[in-house]
Amino acid sequence: MRRKTLVAGNWKMYKLSAAARELAAAIRQGLGSEQRVDVAICPPFPWLTAVAEVLRGSPIAVGAQNVYPGNEGAFTGEVNSAMLLDAGCKYVIVGHSERRHVIGEKDQFLNDKAKAALQAGLHVIFCVGEKLEERDANKTEAVLDNQLTWGLKDVPAAHAPRLVIAYEPVWAIGSGRNATPEQAQQAHVFIRWRFSQLFGNEAAEKLVIQYGGSVKPDNAASLLSQPDVDGALVGGASLQADSFLKIIRAAVV
Ligand code: PEP
Repeated sequence: MRRKTLVAGNWKMYKLSAAARELAAAIRQGLGSEQRVDVAICPPFPWLTAVAEVLRGSPIAVGAQNVYPGNEGAFTGEVNSAMLLDAGCKYVIVGHSERRHVIGEKDQFLNDKAKAALQAGLHVIFCVGEKLEERDANKTEAVLDNQLTWGLKDVPAAHAPRLVIAYEPVWAIGSGRNATPEQAQQAHVFIRWRFSQLFGNEAAEKLVIQYGGSVKPDNAASLLSQPDVDGALVGGASLQADSFLKIIRAAVV
């Protein structure tokens, strides 16, 4: 089955407002009416509305990089799903390795975020991936299993179609060292198999699994040509229109 490819740019904590608008406008212009690949960009919170304005009427979706699993209330500094939807978001990234390993978010909290965002109607890009020492100790599948089991616990099957999984080996993020296409394919097959156990074969066949970790214009095509690599979550290379557009074009088969 041919799944539609999703290329998403994670801008992390980069860009001030003018640069964010310019980048979104350049991506919009460069992409034209291309619709064979789904494209999303995930700017920092303060620029979500401005970027959504720039992208209005285009095929490019907006995503947030984080969400808090609550309704409105006394949660200083947090942003909930209703606010993200109101700001124009379709997607939200949950479980990025920087939130797991730098900020210290745990499976239970990530599970609460995923459930709340899905319940609200957002599409969730749920990130999983092993650290280098875990890969070296042959624990990659055990780590992925754990992150999927606890991170997606009690997600209703009806919400599975709005889940995207991003396989992002921690050792490949921002390091310039990407997984080989074979390593990515192997991990994606495992993720799809585990997802089928959780949500059934049909949902697993339709599941978009992105690869993330130092995706660049020169390695995108070989990664994206793997049968179970259905897109890319791009950090560094999404910060320039030229490199991001080249990755999107590599995804057009
Ligand atoms: C990411 O931020 O999810 C990521 C994969 O970053 P980079 O492409 O810079 O490795």
